[in-house]
This record gives sequence, C-alpha cells and structure tokens, in this order.
Amino acid sequence: MTSGQRLRQIANVLNGSTPLGLLIAASARTRVRRGPGGLLIATDYRWRLPFAGAFTVGNVVLFRAGFERALADPALLGHEERHSSQYAWCFGAPFLALYLLAAGWSVLRTGNPGSANMFERLAGLQAGGYPDLKPPAPPLSTRGAPIPTRRVPTRKLLPWKEAGRD
Ligand SMILES: [Zn+2]
Repeated sequence: MTSGQRLRQIANVLNGSTPLGLLIAASARTRVRRGPGGLLIATDYRWRLPFAGAFTVGNVVLFRAGFERALADPALLGHEERHSSQYAWCFGAPFLALYLLAAGWSVLRTGNPGSANMFERLAGLQAGGYPDLKPPAPPLSTRGAPIPTRRVPTRKLLPWKEAGRD
C-alpha cells in the first residue's frame, strides 16, 4: 500500500464513509475481503439500488459479481478506487450530496447520470461503463451553419483615424 492509499484509508475511516460502506455491506449480506490499495471488496451485492455493477462507499467497493470476477476487471476497480479517493477529498458524507448534484446535472445535460458528472469523468467514463456523451450542440440554421450569436462590433479605431489623420 502506498502512503497515499494509507492516508486515504485513514481519512475514510475518520470521516465515517468506510464505516458506512461496511454497514451497507453487512446489511446487504455481502462477503467482504481485503482488496488492493487498502480497499475492501464486498461481493454478491443483491439490493436493487443503485443500478450499477459496482459502487463505492468510502474504501468499500461493493460488487454485484463474486470476488474472482470483481478483481478480474482492473479498469473498473481502478475507477472505483478513484471514487474512494473522492470520498477522502470531500470529507466523506458531503461526497454523496455532491455526487447526486453532479449526477442530476449530468442527466439534464446529456440524459445520462455519468457522462457529464465531474466525479465520473475524473474517475474515467469508459472504465465506469458510461458513454462519453456531449451536451447537445447549439441549434443550426436551415442552411446547416450555426446560428450566429449577437455580435457587438469590435472595429478598433486607430488613434490617428479617430483624430481624422491618415
Ligand atoms: Zn463511477
């Protein structure tokens, strides 16, 4: 474990997010084992929500899959590990509120909770299984060119022209 991972592990215990993750893992009757980087891998998660193959609460990464399959996708595990770091940076519980706001913003912008969600973008969209959708482009005119926005004349008057000299 690197010193950064150790620091994250301690931060997420102190900010309460890892204890919350363990409470969810125990309530959902998952099996919890030690994973790489100080993560705890909870497998065989069966609750309906959230609609995801994996999600992270503090240092606890909860997978619907079993242990072997969970560790067989290092890209997804790396993505979830970055969420674990985001919990530490956001002091635990505030991450959940900020994440929900970011997901709502993303749905409004792209119709997908991850595509324009800054936390998912920072964790890696592709590894998290999110499409890289762009917000809708500005409307096009009938000729296919973008509708020009109102432009303020920017003709710069040269000092000698203003003064009537050439
Ligand atoms: Zn994610």
